[in-house]
Formats: sequence, C-alpha cells, structure tokens
Amino acid sequence: MSACCSGPCSSSTPPPDGRYRKVLWAALFINFLMFGVELASSMAAGSVSLLADSVDFLGDAANYAVSLFVLGMAMAWRSRAAYAKGVVMGAFGLLVLARALWFGLDGHVPHAGTMGVIGFAALAANGAVAAMLYAFRHGDANMRSVWLCTRNDMIGNLAVMLAALGVFGTRAGWPDIVVASIMACLGLWAAREVMRQARAELRAQAATAGVQASSPGVQAPSTDLPVPLPAPVHIIEIRQR
Ligand SMILES: [Zn+2]
Repeated sequence: MSACCSGPCSSSTPPPDGRYRKVLWAALFINFLMFGVELASSMAAGSVSLLADSVDFLGDAANYAVSLFVLGMAMAWRSRAAYAKGVVMGAFGLLVLARALWFGLDGHVPHAGTMGVIGFAALAANGAVAAMLYAFRHGDANMRSVWLCTRNDMIGNLAVMLAALGVFGTRAGWPDIVVASIMACLGLWAAREVMRQARAELRAQAATAGVQASSPGVQAPSTDLPVPLPAPVHIIEIRQR
C-alpha cells in the first residue's frame, strides 16, 4: 500500500484513443485480479502483510475504473468515487490492523513460501502494468505520478517478500505483523487524505453550483465538462481547519 492511492495512479485526463483505453482496461483487470489473488492467499497463508498489500491493488483498480468510466462524467461523480474509495481503503486499513493484533496475540506463524511467491507475482504484475503505461507515456502529463505509484507499489511488494524472508528465518509471525502494520498505517493516512480532498472538492463544487443556480437561466453543471476548480482555495480551506 502506498501514497499513490492518495492520488491518481493512472491518467486524470480522459483517455484519448482506443488503444490507450485498452491499456487502461488491461491495467484494471490485472490490478483487480491481483487484489483477488492476494486477498485469497492472505487467507490461505495466514499472512497479514499480503492482506495489507492487496488493498493497494484494489485502490489502483478503482483509479483505472475512474479513468475509464467516471472521468467523462460530472466532476461531482469523480469526487464521490474518490470518497468511496477512501472509505473502502480506510476500512481495509482498520481490518489489517485488527487482524495483525489478533495474529500477534495468538502467536500465529504465516506460511513464508506462499508469501514470497505471491509477493513476487505482485511485483511482476506491477512491473507489467508500468511497462504497458510506459509505452503510452507521450501526451500523458501524469506519467510521473504513474511512475511514482509503481515504484511505491513495488516497495510494498518487496516489503512482503522481506516479511516472508523474516518469517522463514525466525519461524515467527512478527516480521509479517510489523510489515503489515506499517503498510496499514500508511494506507490509513492515504485514505484520510483521499477523503479529505474529495470532501473539499465536493464542497467547492456545491459552492460553484450555488453561484450558478443564483443567476437565472444558468443551470448547475451537469454536463461532462469538468468544472475548473480554484485549487489554491482548497489548500487554504484544508489548512485552516
Ligand atoms: Zn498503487
């Protein structure tokens, strides 16, 4: 789990051509598949760090889904989707912490082999998605954010493999629990940021809609044209609280 989940892992502009949309579809599929794989194997191997790592795939799948379906819609839907993503990520973070505490108390030892293999598969999946997006880097201003995302994701995958090594070496569960707890805390922080930003956006959109509604004949923005938001105002708004 990484900071990328607080920002878009994929492009924040509507996908321009059909081939790029196909890449986004593939990225969505791979991320959602790996979420399922890591979730299932976290249960099978009794590993909390795998559970923590799975959340990032879910968050990234949501980002690609937003790129494919929501970006063309009104700004408010994008903010609502982001908020929902923040809620799910936060719930997962709490679940990971609760499970880490539970496993820590009962001295559970996860299956190191499964952790290592799935951690490596996750690393390969993130690498494959990054390579696909790299081929479409031209014309995409958010390539840097994609790269930062991938790097952070790969650090998470490596952390799972490191935890596997630690479990293998010590024959104890604590390396898994330590790694999972760190990832869960980072995830909770990211979830809070996502929700805070989405709330600020929704508030700004409501204010804009209010201004437009007060002038007769002008409808509130419900078209697919995103409303340009006064970004600096958001920052001030956030900092003042
Ligand atoms: Zn990610």
